[in-house]
Amino acid sequence: MADCKNLAGCPFFNDKMSEKPALASMMKKRYCLGESTLCARYIVCEALGKDNVPGNLFPNMQDKAQVLIGAK
Ligand code: SF4
Repeated sequence: MADCKNLAGCPFFNDKMSEKPALASMMKKRYCLGESTLCARYIVCEALGKDNVPGNLFPNMQDKAQVLIGAK
């Protein structure tokens, strides 16, 4: 496990998305500072590039990420 390589430029990690700080904090610990390769934003970024990651895609929206990258 390692910090996500997208930390610096990620709007979720930099608190530009969530209005629920407690939930965001849990997700940061789980994904951003843990298993980043499972994060929905990370998955879409890897497949389609960072410009194609929706502004409202949260780390736990893996199903939506699969649809976006055409895997579902
Ligand atoms: S794990 Fe996901 S939400 Fe967290 S910094 Fe990386 S891309 Fe952003």
